[in-house]
Amino acid sequence: MSLLEVEGLRTYFFTRRGVAKVLDGLNFSLAEGQIVGLVGETGSGKSVTGFSILRLVQRPGKIVGGQIRFAGRDLLKLSEAEMARLRGRDIAMIFQNPRMALNPLISVGRFLSHVIRYRAGISGGRVREEALRLLREVQIPDPERRLSSYPHQLSGGMAQRVMIAAAVAARPRLLIADEPTTGLDVTVQAQIVRLLKRLRDETGTAQILITHDLGLASEVCDAIAVMYAGEIVEFGPTASVFQSPKHPYTQGLLASRPKLGDTGEIPALPGSVPDLTNPPTGCRFHPRCPYAFDRCARERPAPRPVGDGRVAACFLYEEGDDA
Ligand code: SF4
Repeated sequence: MSLLEVEGLRTYFFTRRGVAKVLDGLNFSLAEGQIVGLVGETGSGKSVTGFSILRLVQRPGKIVGGQIRFAGRDLLKLSEAEMARLRGRDIAMIFQNPRMALNPLISVGRFLSHVIRYRAGISGGRVREEALRLLREVQIPDPERRLSSYPHQLSGGMAQRVMIAAAVAARPRLLIADEPTTGLDVTVQAQIVRLLKRLRDETGTAQILITHDLGLASEVCDAIAVMYAGEIVEFGPTASVFQSPKHPYTQGLLASRPKLGDTGEIPALPGSVPDLTNPPTGCRFHPRCPYAFDRCARERPAPRPVGDGRVAACFLYEEGDDA
């Protein structure tokens, strides 16, 4: 059984310019212990997916439809109090810019102690012991000394390790990592990625890795969900998605990814992500798609199986066609 099943999720933003349909019928699932990479250009709805799962979408955003089933419970039907109990304990999230998330006036030890007491329910003398164990688990050197460090005394990589330690304190069943390596140097990025993977191997925590970095996703993820303009256009095992991408958007994304030695974001594909207050009719990718034909502007393609355990939302794969 899946740990998480997202079905027809719609999250809209009610802006002065109109209603931005940032997630418009999102479907995907995640098994226990699986790492799924949510990839796509900036503005595709990746982060909003993470916030929606945790029901932390801020106004003017609102979840307007769909289901998010986690361990058999529909999160959209839970009371706010039930949801608050679940956050941090069963589902945790880490963000980019970890130093911004840490209070500059609170030491690492005090921060972790609070998290351990509140989320893991540990008290008394065992709190410090647990804080040290967590710092060792995320491979922070000299953990005794780090307990008394303040955020400004930590490197970006160290601060992210502290955030990961806090996130896994209660042994969550699902960890959502939103661009966890952005702003870190390449060596530290690799260390954080290996750390996330090791945590999964050792604790069985399922993960959603939200990233624009395809190299990172290919290294750590079991499956890839490619997002475009609020929809998942292709989903499947990492190796097959990377070796033979089916959806034209995935093909374009992979063709334009930085080659060895390049740094920075994925170079933009021709055209840009559409304005979601006025998205294209039919297939949202049709204005940028080299294979678009008449029907693409009229009808929205449904996700369909395309072999190798994959699904793609594209008319090119109807009734056994293969592009
Ligand atoms: Fe391109 Fe049409 Fe497929 Fe959309 S449905 S990706 S426009 S071929």
